[in-house]
Amino acid sequence: MTDRKPDLKGRLALVTGASRGIGYFLAKELAAAGAHVIAVARTVGGLEELDDEIKALGGEATLVPLDLTDMAGIDRIGGAIHERWGKLDIMVANAGMLGVISPIGHVEAKVFEKVMTVNVTSTWRLIRAVDPLLRASDAGRAILLSSGAAHSARAFWGPYAASKAAVEALARSWADETKNMPLRVNSVNPGATRTAMRALAMPGEDPETLPHPSEVAAAILPLASPELTETGLILDVPKGCFTRYQMPA
Ligand code: NDP
Repeated sequence: MTDRKPDLKGRLALVTGASRGIGYFLAKELAAAGAHVIAVARTVGGLEELDDEIKALGGEATLVPLDLTDMAGIDRIGGAIHERWGKLDIMVANAGMLGVISPIGHVEAKVFEKVMTVNVTSTWRLIRAVDPLLRASDAGRAILLSSGAAHSARAFWGPYAASKAAVEALARSWADETKNMPLRVNSVNPGATRTAMRALAMPGEDPETLPHPSEVAAAILPLASPELTETGLILDVPKGCFTRYQMPA
């Protein structure tokens, strides 16, 4: 993978969780590189702010206010992209939630189920909705936000860790299914980043000690490049390299 900023002129990118944090700045990076961004989240104010910033850069965005627990809504996004553009070049499954930091046995069922719905089921549903559109691109790129928690599986992070391990497994299976096609599918561990989610997880931490989401977004951007060759890997942003997993023969 090269660190050079990709040229994404004329390309179409979908970003979930684009109203704040890492997704917001990744959407901005994609637009600055020339892509038309389809920005998905619930908070209309955050999406509108992003739209203003993208317009100021001379770029274009389409805003999709949607709660990702609305599975039929996710399906509709796939249908609408098909009708308007016939293909999708870049998908960023970034939206996510932490749930609670708590002993596993104390997690309320409704909290566990919501974490799985937002982090895992909606990601699968989005994959299902856009897979044919990404295959229709000459260089489809899928980027799924994971977390170091998927591997560290620290005490009290059970629901979130399990959800991110599931996201990585989905990404790797999808990558293996599509390895002989132009489509490239990779996960990302962004590392601790100065966002609302991190502040919720680590309330005592000084946010100024953490990288700003704009820095993290710039490190993720090369995964959207039409020149990318890697697939089925995890980009570890703090280490600045891919983690390699053995692909099945
Ligand atoms: P934020 O909490 O700052 O942003 C989360 C985004 O997800 C928001 O745009 C939010 O939009 C969206 N979202 C959450 N729930 C829903 C929902 N039900 N429907 C639609 N959109 C939703 O998180 P970060 O930017 O920190 O995290 C981005 C990704 O990076 C996540 O997948 C996270 O797990 C991962 N990550 C983050 C780390 C960190 O240190 N920050 C570390 C490791 C991984 P809205 O509320 O407007 O709907």
